[in-house]
Amino acid sequence: MDKTIFQKIIEKEIPSDIIFEDELCIVIKDINPQAPIHLLIIPKKPIPKLADASKDDLEILGHLMLIVGNMSRQFNVEDAFNVVINNGEKAGQTVFHLHIHLLAGNDKLNLPK
Ligand code: AMP
Repeated sequence: MDKTIFQKIIEKEIPSDIIFEDELCIVIKDINPQAPIHLLIIPKKPIPKLADASKDDLEILGHLMLIVGNMSRQFNVEDAFNVVINNGEKAGQTVFHLHIHLLAGNDKLNLPK
C-alpha cells in the first residue's frame, strides 16, 4: 500500500510543523486548522483507523491520550479543549493513519470536516 501523508511526515520525507516527537508518536500542527489551536497526535505505528487497533496497541493508545494532556498544558488550554477521532470515510476520515485531533481556543466545539 502507498504511504499515507502522515507516514511521509513521520519519516521526514515531507516537511511539517512538528510540535513534539518521541519513540511512539509525533505531534504536528494541522495544515488546515479548524480552531486557533489544532494539533494532530499521530502514532508512529501505521494503524489505519481506531477500529483497527487491537490489544497490542494498548500502550500506544494510552500514550496518545497522555500526550494530548501534555499538549493541552503546553498550550495552556488544559481547561477547555476537544478531542476528535474520525473513524472511516463516512465519518470524515481523509488520512488512513490513526490520528487524534486536539482542538482549542474557541468557545465552542469545532469538529474537523
Ligand atoms: P481526518 O479528516 O480526520 O482524516 O484528518 C486529517 C487531517 O490532516 C485534516 O484536518 C487535514 O487538514 C490534515 N492534514 C492533511 N495533510 C496535512 C499535512 N501535510 N500537514 C498537516 N496536516 C495535514
